[in-house]
Amino acid sequence: MDTSALNEKIVGRGKTLFSSISGEKPSLFDTASWMGKVMDWSMQNKQFKTSLFRFVDVFPSLTTASLLTDHVSEYFGEGQDLPAVLSSGAKMAGRFGSLGGAVLNKLISANIHEMAAQFIVGETIKDALKNIARMRADGFAAVLDVLGEATLSAEEGEAYLTTYLELLDALEQEQGRWPGLPADGGDPSLDWGHAPRINIAVKPSALFCQANPQDFEGSVEAILGQMRRICARVVQAGGFLCIDMESYRLKGIILEVFRRLKQEYRDYPHIGVVLQSYLKDTDQDLAELLAWARQHDTRISIRLVKGAYWDYEVVRARQMGWQIPVWTIKAESDAAFERQARSILESHDVCHFACASHNIRTIAAVIETAAALQIPASRYEFQMLYGMAEPVRRGILREVGRVRLYCPYGDMVPGMGYLVRRLLENTANESFLRLSFGEDARIERLLEDPLVIAAQERAARDATPRKVRTGPGGLVVRFVNEPLADFSQPDQRAAFPQAIAQVRAQLGRTYPLYINGREVVTNDLQPSSNPARPSELLGQVCQAGIPQVEQAIAAAKAAFPAWRDTAPRERAEYLLTAARFARQRIFDLSAWQVLEIGKQWDQAYADVAEAIDFLEYYAREMLRLGAPVRLGHIPGEINDYSYEPKGVALVIAPWNFPLAISMGMTAAAIVTGNPVVYKPSGLTAIIGHQLVEIFREAGLPAGVFNYVPGQGALIGDFMVDHADISLIAFTGSCEVGLRIIERSARVHPGQTHVKKVVCEMGGKNAIIIDADADLDEAVPQVLSSAFGFQGQKCSACSRVIVLDEVYERFVERLVKAASAWRIGPAEDPAFTMGAVADAAAREKIMGYIALGRQESTLLYESQIPHGEGYWVPLTIVGGVTPQHRLAQEEIFGPVLAVMRVADFEQALQWANSTPYALTGGIFSRSPGHVERARRDFRVGNLYINRGITGALVGRQPFGGARMSGGGTKAGGPDYLQHFMDPRVVTENTMRRGFAPHEEDDDWLE
Ligand SMILES: Cc1cc2nc3c(=O)[nH]c(=O)nc-3n(C[C@H](O)[C@H](O)[C@H](O)COP(=O)(O)OP(=O)(O)OC[C@H]3O[C@@H](n4cnc5c(N)ncnc54)[C@H](O)[C@@H]3O)c2cc1C
Repeated sequence: MDTSALNEKIVGRGKTLFSSISGEKPSLFDTASWMGKVMDWSMQNKQFKTSLFRFVDVFPSLTTASLLTDHVSEYFGEGQDLPAVLSSGAKMAGRFGSLGGAVLNKLISANIHEMAAQFIVGETIKDALKNIARMRADGFAAVLDVLGEATLSAEEGEAYLTTYLELLDALEQEQGRWPGLPADGGDPSLDWGHAPRINIAVKPSALFCQANPQDFEGSVEAILGQMRRICARVVQAGGFLCIDMESYRLKGIILEVFRRLKQEYRDYPHIGVVLQSYLKDTDQDLAELLAWARQHDTRISIRLVKGAYWDYEVVRARQMGWQIPVWTIKAESDAAFERQARSILESHDVCHFACASHNIRTIAAVIETAAALQIPASRYEFQMLYGMAEPVRRGILREVGRVRLYCPYGDMVPGMGYLVRRLLENTANESFLRLSFGEDARIERLLEDPLVIAAQERAARDATPRKVRTGPGGLVVRFVNEPLADFSQPDQRAAFPQAIAQVRAQLGRTYPLYINGREVVTNDLQPSSNPARPSELLGQVCQAGIPQVEQAIAAAKAAFPAWRDTAPRERAEYLLTAARFARQRIFDLSAWQVLEIGKQWDQAYADVAEAIDFLEYYAREMLRLGAPVRLGHIPGEINDYSYEPKGVALVIAPWNFPLAISMGMTAAAIVTGNPVVYKPSGLTAIIGHQLVEIFREAGLPAGVFNYVPGQGALIGDFMVDHADISLIAFTGSCEVGLRIIERSARVHPGQTHVKKVVCEMGGKNAIIIDADADLDEAVPQVLSSAFGFQGQKCSACSRVIVLDEVYERFVERLVKAASAWRIGPAEDPAFTMGAVADAAAREKIMGYIALGRQESTLLYESQIPHGEGYWVPLTIVGGVTPQHRLAQEEIFGPVLAVMRVADFEQALQWANSTPYALTGGIFSRSPGHVERARRDFRVGNLYINRGITGALVGRQPFGGARMSGGGTKAGGPDYLQHFMDPRVVTENTMRRGFAPHEEDDDWLE
């Protein structure tokens, strides 16, 4: 049948379906019901929709009456007419305050429970079974899913699995009581003569808390291990197992789990997986899966959905700078679904098809395509979500039979993520259900071929010109961050081991100094080694002594006049060229960080990406600041405001962000016109040498960048004191920072300027866990903030301040989740934490752990690997108060102090109770508390409901105040100004009473 004839049939079928259900409304769109009213209001009022969805999200955490009352008033108070909707439609607007809090709480609780009950088949197995029996009596089959997504620990994963095993026991017992759903022949013990009565769906990520594409193989094996146990039980019960698809990040892992599991059960046909049509990858994934099934001579099943995480995927990709993985025109997803449905139906000999949609056009397309291809009824079925589209499901049941409802069951708390997704889905502007039943859109439009709509919309979109602003030399003016590594892409995963192997092939080299455009070799060599395996020598780095430092400063001084007078634009172009070179070598540069300082793959890549960001960002900033600004606009005079560099800059860099921070400080100095003498940390001097490689490739003139690694004790003070140093950019410990500030204040013979110090120092950063915090988010974010890169970040979380109400729950989950962290060499992605920087760091941290044992309570201490390597255990101590040293001193290692507070006020006081003010965070869903923290949590970088590390250039300019630094913000719009002196040139333009006319001189008498 040609496509237009088929389309006519589809439209005809759609019209029949519509007319068969005319006058009926799904309960969600029935405005006579409370739920329908709420949905209706959400669709009309964006602000209410946000408040409502956020309230639904926080609701399970509101465990006391006062928490509930406070949140109701924060979310819906202040004179809004909204509680009326939330409270059974009672006319409460304006009377909110007069109704007793307890009554209101009860009403709201009941309503939210009713909302959840709409989508959840039961909170207990007993309830679920009762509802399923009812559904079956109405002719619907069921697929059961246990609610739960964010599994934080092995225990939680095991509990999730156990629930499945118990569910399967109960279903097996129960299925004998269920009459089979009607069949035209086939096996009477099965539904419709061919389908198992037991049918379950499993979310893979809930089985393994550390699922992460970075450790692809480890994640696949761990999930598979758990899935095998469920599958064995399903097969024993003669049931059906479908592996649900989750966010794009896990897609590769889930498909691999499916293939491996299916290979183990090659002859068992009732195992399926979900594909999402909204993903641009799906055509290819589907083709590969069908070919794979043929090749392995096994029968599979695919449930095709459009996909439930559309908003999330778009937002996440945009935040990370990745390609958006989903179609962005709704009709493109619809068209993809129809195309892919056809491919599956055409392969019905190897693939059973579950069409999961509530969209009448989509369903009609499947019905008609299956009819045109004469697909046997046993090879496809229709699936819809429990609680949605009741008329549609009844209509399909009448027309074709074989409708299965997807029934989540279990606790409401883990169910809230599911509930919010359903609310979003139903109220989305482009939802078929909303358009059909909420807005009564024209049926013809609803049934139109999505290919046609997609083509129209794509053409309209392509015709809209993109606004890309370009500046001098075609430079794109808007800065965008370098995308972070996306390990869901197989090529990015494969690149790391390859790059590490290539780095290993270069070990043992000697790295010379670089002064005045030439390599300088010294006899004093400093070995650099792998902290996870100190016997592995990575290379030797020539050390500068006083003579070489003098040469470097002299070279920089000589280079200064010409560099100062080089046009800002030309200076910026060197940075952009350097960024290009760094980008080309990004995996190689990252691999060095894995080996020289023990960064995990993602951390290493992020460091290099940040270095590139600094180059790109400061280049653009210099273009902005490089043009003189005219001030005053008074006739008869011109005032030009501009900046000029200070002179020779000394850059002293730390080891913990060895490329990013080195590059940031150096690039800022260079682009503003200050030649640099750069001293890397001794622990990462090979990475420091990469600056030489990058700037050489960029063709920077001799003397503008000089590399002088050396012993701090030998050359540090000498450099700082030197009369020809005008500017010192330093990032490191508070102790060294204060020493530099003090020494640089002294004027030495021959010195003709006041030295400027740009100084970033330490932190003792806290995260507050409020009583209503989302622990599914807070626990993993606290752990990654505290222990990512072994806690060796100045931004790391070292104190977590927990409100009494959630203390026990939080700490229990924190400790269990921490115990899933594995410690070992950073080059192996199975390990989430690696070795610390060196033996001295290990000694210092172990000292603090011993102190923690003495002055507080040890809550958790991990195992560490045997053998060489600077290992320290991941450590969590409790019972810490501001008086303890553990609450005041920077440790720079994987030690987290947990502090318990009575209320939010005390939490803020304790958070602010150290001399540092670098980063801080709060997990709270109380708008009032969030507002308070914005104002009174006094740190340089405050993060709300997210981790506190990983600041991005241009988005979260980074740096602290008080003892954390001099108030400069790396990667921010003020930063470059610290490297320059502002100048004003005023010219009198009046000659004998004549002054040239100024264009914007619009004075009035
Ligand atoms: C039985 C069953 C099982 C399910 N299992 C899963 C699962 O394992 N994994 C999963 O992710 N989802 C799953 N879902 C949820 C499913 O993804 C949504 O219910 C489905 O996307 C809604 O599509 P529709 O055809 O019913 O509605 P429609 O209104 O036709 O389509 C809505 C969908 O279109 C897509 N979309 C929305 N806006 C755009 C846009 N601007 N550009 C492109 N596409 C857009 C989104 O996917 C959105 O959900 C399941 C659904 C059912 C019925």
